Amino acid sequence: MNMPTREQIVEIFAKAIDGGYAIPHINHSDYGDLIAIAEAGREAATPIMAAGTPMTTSAMGFKKISVIAHLLAEEGDTPFIIHCDHCPDPELCKQAIDAGYNSVMIDASDKPLDENIAIVKDVVDYAHARGVFVEAEVGHVAHGEGSSWDASVDEAVKLVSATGVDALAIAMGSEHGFYKELPKLNFDLAVQVHEALPNTPLVLHGGSGIPAADVRHAIASGIRKVNVGTDVRCTYVAGLRDAIAEMGIERHTQDIIAFAQARAKEKIFDVIDMCGSRNKA
Ligand SMILES: [Zn+2]
Repeated sequence: MNMPTREQIVEIFAKAIDGGYAIPHINHSDYGDLIAIAEAGREAATPIMAAGTPMTTSAMGFKKISVIAHLLAEEGDTPFIIHCDHCPDPELCKQAIDAGYNSVMIDASDKPLDENIAIVKDVVDYAHARGVFVEAEVGHVAHGEGSSWDASVDEAVKLVSATGVDALAIAMGSEHGFYKELPKLNFDLAVQVHEALPNTPLVLHGGSGIPAADVRHAIASGIRKVNVGTDVRCTYVAGLRDAIAEMGIERHTQDIIAFAQARAKEKIFDVIDMCGSRNKA
């Protein structure tokens, strides 16, 4: 199948809202794990989103990622979405859209709300005219350094009604990367935002290391997209390391990558099952 358009992605999330499950979002860091994400989605018959952070997309290039992603989408029957994650700059979002991405996240969550809204609106206008899905964020989920703060229901409603954005990340106590101590998720906040915005898919960032029971609780509270990056990337890289250790350096590169992809896929299947999206494509 070809990559879903914005309308089709909206429909995919509408089904998830009706069915009470979430769509898995997995970050890729190279071509090998990008392929593993597409294969895992296909084998589990789930819609799946493969996402690149600016670190990945600046190193690999939007166009190259997009071309491969389109080929992967055509190989299967399940919806495959290529998403530009945490894009801080509207111009970068527009480059991703022009390169063929069907979904982008504009992240101006570190800015005051009015500024966040203006930046999101600019991207939404550009993206919707081209059939591309847009995610924004309220509250702030920190990246490494810096601090996070929770979203508020009023901010969430104001941002969505002012911009028409398709999906909304709400900061609710999670962090990016692995946790030093277990996060305390603000499930009540998710419930309240979901009640205020019943048709807007809500997104949980920082899924690596959140106990599966807490992720399921977040989904029961209204989360419809779960983002996992670090956990899958580290599993993939550890797979490369272990493959070299077991097979030796002279083994063909494709064998080493296939070993790491298989490891990454096991982790991705765990995320898919946590999301409850298996056989929902
Ligand atoms: Zn994130």
